[in-house]
Amino acid sequence: MKTCYMCKGEVKLSLVDVEIKGIVVKDIPAEVCTRCGEKYFDTKTASFIQDITGCINEKKRGYIVDIVSSARNTKNAVEA
Ligand SMILES: [Zn+2]
Repeated sequence: MKTCYMCKGEVKLSLVDVEIKGIVVKDIPAEVCTRCGEKYFDTKTASFIQDITGCINEKKRGYIVDIVSSARNTKNAVEA
């Protein structure tokens, strides 16, 4: 069982909504502390979030759709 780095609470894998610069991206796979709510993302998900942040900076809204599709693939990978 994984534990939270912040409070040593139990960490469980779940899908969360992440708000990045006012845009909410739903169903991001993350490990969430059941005690304090701290979220932990794996490397692939973290880079995916950085991609979104970058494309919001560049105002490439259309690109977000592609990234959200990638997120669904990530979700499937987690479940598999
Ligand atoms: Zn915690």
